[in-house]
Formats: sequence, structure tokens, C-alpha cells
Amino acid sequence: MTKYDELVKEAINALKKCNVPTKGPLFSCVVLTKNGNVYSSGRYFSDSYSLTLHAEQAALAHAADHGEHEVVAMAAVGKDKHPVIPCSMCRQLIWEHSKRSGIDIGIVVADKNNQYKIIKISKLVPYPWP
Ligand SMILES: [Zn+2]
Repeated sequence: MTKYDELVKEAINALKKCNVPTKGPLFSCVVLTKNGNVYSSGRYFSDSYSLTLHAEQAALAHAADHGEHEVVAMAAVGKDKHPVIPCSMCRQLIWEHSKRSGIDIGIVVADKNNQYKIIKISKLVPYPWP
């Protein structure tokens, strides 16, 4: 089992952390820090929808809550338990995190054969703002 497999497995386990599993799409995310620690979260649903925290946002906040700001890799999964690519808002947040830490964060993705690989956030956000 590769470290990417382990991250995806942790992310799948985190699906049960979604606060309202009966509403909205289910997503979860795990972050791996430079110190080797793993922090995960499910998405945090709001009835307003617009206030829902995406799993990537919640997982980064979970790591920050433990004083961990050097994320090296992230894996997010949907209810089908396969890696999903972060949405544009999350890409922005991850890119900003990467800019502050100086670490080009790796995002776990799956190819059509369900083999996992890493795409760096700098490749997902080629023209960042600001
Ligand atoms: Zn998102």
C-alpha cells in the first residue's frame, strides 16, 4: 500500500465525519503534514448551502487547530469513495496555504485505471490570484 493509498483510505474513513450525512453531497478530505501527521474532516453542511464548509477547507482548519501549517499532500473523496479534484474555491485556499508555507502541496488524484498519483497545486492553479 502506497502512502497515497493510505491517504485515500483515511479520507474514505472520514466520510463518516460529515455532520449531516442525509443532506447534500458527501465529501471528505485528509491532509498530510510535513511532520507526518494526518488530519481529516467531512464536509460541514449548512442548510443555507452557501455556508457549507468544503471538506478540504475543514481538513486544513483541523490541521491548523493542531498548529500544523505545513501540509505536503491532500486527498479528497466523494461518496463513491474515489478521489475527487478540489473545486475552484478549494484550489484557491490550498494555493494560498501553499504560498504561505512554501510547500507545493500534492493533490491525490486517480487516473481512469484508479491508480493514484499526485498533481501539485501549482499545476492546478497555473494563474493564481492575487
Ligand atoms: Zn471545494
